[in-house]
Amino acid sequence: MTDWPAVEKEYYLFTVNRLPATYVRGEGARLWDDRGKEYLDFVAGWAVNSLGHCPPAVVEAITRQARTLLQVSNHYYSIPQLELARILVDNSCLDKVFVCNSGAEACEGAVKLARRYGALHRGGAWKVITANNSFHGRTLMMTAATGQEKFHKPFHPIPEGFINVEYNNVDAVKSATSKETCAVMLEPLQGEGGVNVPSPEYLKAVRAWCDETGMLLILDEVQTGIGRLGTLFGYESFGVEPDIMALAKGLGSGVPVGAFMAKNKANVFEGGQHGSTFGGNPLTSAAAHAVVKYVIENNVCENVKQVGSYLLGRLRQLADSHSIVTEARGMGLLQAVEFDREVGMDVTRACLEAGLLVNPVKPNAIRIMPPLIITKADVDEAVEKLDSVLRKL
Ligand SMILES: *Cc1c(COP(=O)(O)O)cnc(C)c1O
Repeated sequence: MTDWPAVEKEYYLFTVNRLPATYVRGEGARLWDDRGKEYLDFVAGWAVNSLGHCPPAVVEAITRQARTLLQVSNHYYSIPQLELARILVDNSCLDKVFVCNSGAEACEGAVKLARRYGALHRGGAWKVITANNSFHGRTLMMTAATGQEKFHKPFHPIPEGFINVEYNNVDAVKSATSKETCAVMLEPLQGEGGVNVPSPEYLKAVRAWCDETGMLLILDEVQTGIGRLGTLFGYESFGVEPDIMALAKGLGSGVPVGAFMAKNKANVFEGGQHGSTFGGNPLTSAAAHAVVKYVIENNVCENVKQVGSYLLGRLRQLADSHSIVTEARGMGLLQAVEFDREVGMDVTRACLEAGLLVNPVKPNAIRIMPPLIITKADVDEAVEKLDSVLRKL
């Protein structure tokens, strides 16, 4: 049997210490490794496999598209891209779509658009206010947008134009506002930063402040979009409407595709100011269209609500029975379990051994973000495994 970790060490650029599993097949919420061991996947490729692994609706759509047309340049019309744009607009508060390839790219596009808006409608304003503990991606620009010092430090000087302020504090946004700021960019609920749920008033207060000052509200829904919180888009769960929204992760259920969307008032690029070679390519657009259509037609959000609140209840029971667990929190199927000490990685490794994937989102917490189609029986199985891991800790 090939020693894939050895191959990785020899050939792959180092960026991360990987966990000891080489998966070769997936179906629904299950994965199998190269030794034939089965796992229950509560990471879902980092909240990507929204419909589970190899969902038939997506496999059929991309198989059909692969036989028909793979790529044309964006100098021409593309039917899958326009079908995707139409289903996203028809089911959201936004009016226009630009399709790209990743979350970072979607956020970059959102910020470029906000800068154009600031240039045209807010006296040349160009800076964007973002939150501490946020995550907006790994390009140099989005590293600067990300309000975490550890992502800035190794790459100084980082690009200018972002002011990182405390999350869940509208006064911090107000103090950072000046005639130079054109937008506020926030995650409705912070994922990568530790599954931080804001107060119900926060986004509404930021929305009101943006309206008062003429700034745009950008919501980075790369992780929260496409049903993750129990509504098709996270903003619906908080009762606010963004002016610009970034999507990626769950949009393609495993096929790499991102998008940013805008209200008509922010439809302000001139010809040639933005573009992408692969963005909205027929193959990835066909996948994303199949995902969004499936989520809507099969009422996947209702499953997320029901199974999500069941999961949160079960995790809170765990918190009651294990003193090491200080809190279970989250919304929909984006949740975290926090510990009173730094055992996130130990728990992750022990769960993997027990056949369950979880994500060590912080030294003292694990994040849980399963496919949106899981059942209560899957939750029971996962909680049982987690329970036995915690008991042995
Ligand atoms: C993952 C993530 C990104 C970056 O997405 P990539 O596809 O890795 O570039 C941006 N914003 C949020 C909120 C994310 O969770």
